[in-house]
Amino acid sequence: MHRPSFDFFDQPPLYPNEAFKAQQGLGMTSQRTRDRLIRRLIDLGITDETVLQAMRVVPRHAFLDEAMGSRAYEDTALPIGYGQTISQPIVVATMTQWLLADREQHPMQRVLEIGTGSGYQTAVLALLVKQLFSVERIAPLLFKAQAALQKLDLHNIEFNLNDGHWGWSSRAPFDGIISAAAPDKLPEELLGQLKEGGRLVMPIGQQEQLLYGYIKTSTGVKETCLGEVLFVPMKQGVEV
Ligand code: SAH
Repeated sequence: MHRPSFDFFDQPPLYPNEAFKAQQGLGMTSQRTRDRLIRRLIDLGITDETVLQAMRVVPRHAFLDEAMGSRAYEDTALPIGYGQTISQPIVVATMTQWLLADREQHPMQRVLEIGTGSGYQTAVLALLVKQLFSVERIAPLLFKAQAALQKLDLHNIEFNLNDGHWGWSSRAPFDGIISAAAPDKLPEELLGQLKEGGRLVMPIGQQEQLLYGYIKTSTGVKETCLGEVLFVPMKQGVEV
């Protein structure tokens, strides 16, 4: 793997709209602080410049309570309430990079996200795919995420308060599926909602979890292990 050859840190960030520009933050939430995190992602092996660009402009602090804002650009998961966490930036970058890796052959037009949580990964994905469908099982988290995403003026996202084990059949088939919650085993329903050539990336397991990537082929499924991770469990049903 090679590091990005261009130095985009010399360039101003490519804000997708004025709302992004208005929420770039100061001090511990400034562009400088965010760029330090992006440099770390590059050091950890993230090479996709489009993914790095998207993460460079998404204000992660806007998805956290104010008290947690000063830690927004640490490469760690942080609490968002209801026993859940905002995903660790390197994990968001790794999953997104893998999801988009074959986009020239197979563009990511329709993507399903399971576990909206804070909405942070949702914002990153919304900048990179045509249409995003995001499912969350905890109502107050979903409402808070929707409000944060609305402030960024993102309009290519549909939300669903539901149990993501079942995917979202009325919006299927998808080019990609990404899950931020870990089931014990791969829910077969999700593979069924994937197009041929489509990609699914999700953590599997309980105490010991591995991140897997699956590519649906004409004859079956190609599986890749992307390393050890720690996600919240994928739970059954909905909480209102
Ligand atoms: N990417 C999110 C991660 C949030 S943590 C972020 O960066 O904020 C994972 C989320 O998955 C939690 O909000 C949790 O409520 C949700 N979740 C767990 N099981 C689920 C299920 N069966 N269906 C939908 N969402 C689920």
